[in-house]
Amino acid sequence: MRAVVLSGPKKLDLIHVKNPEPDGNNIMIRVTACGICGSDLHYWELGVGMDGLPGLIMGHEFCGMVHDPGNRLDLKKGERVTALPINPCGVCKNCMTGHQNICLNGLKMPNPGNNSPGAYAEYISIRPDMVRKLPDTVSDREAALIEPASVALHAVTLADIRIGDSVLITGGGPIGVLCAVWARIHFLSKRKIDIEALVTSEIQLEKVQQTFEQFDLKNHQNMKVLIRPFIYH
Ligand SMILES: [Zn+2]
Ligand SMILES: [Zn+2]
Repeated sequence: MRAVVLSGPKKLDLIHVKNPEPDGNNIMIRVTACGICGSDLHYWELGVGMDGLPGLIMGHEFCGMVHDPGNRLDLKKGERVTALPINPCGVCKNCMTGHQNICLNGLKMPNPGNNSPGAYAEYISIRPDMVRKLPDTVSDREAALIEPASVALHAVTLADIRIGDSVLITGGGPIGVLCAVWARIHFLSKRKIDIEALVTSEIQLEKVQQTFEQFDLKNHQNMKVLIRPFIYH
């Protein structure tokens, strides 16, 4: 299969690698969309993955179609899925209390797109319990945003925003913009919310403005959005 490999600092190569093999356990997914995470940009800059080694196939925000359902009897070839790009141990204190995303052993395990092959490739192999089916109402490109959107939802939930609160979102990158989107969804139709997104560059300012327009965030009657540029040179 074709894959994009990180072969050095700021160096990506399109190469041919061996397909992941069906093994009766893991799920083989044919990738149809993949996002570029902020972590990918750091890896690209440094030329190495999370483990400090070159040769990584990045990509952990993705969706695709089941190519081989592994041990998941509820999945069929061709079904659309996404996956949690983590590999929790299942037995540590955090895993046992339902916080697999901060598994104490997680960073030592192979994590797709971070220190093991990710989704900048035609196929990816994922452990069965991390795979989630997608409804038809979600497009492939939207589904590739599920992971960062979940991060933003978690942040907004933790912030415990109340009626009439002003919200400051520092940083106008994808996570910041998604926080603004979730804040709007949380407060839609019944509450008033002011969001001030602090952006740190002219490029970010333009991107945030575009996204806010795309999500119609500026025009919602109960919400006032301020984008405050904080630009240093
Ligand atoms: Zn990410
Ligand atoms: Zn764990």
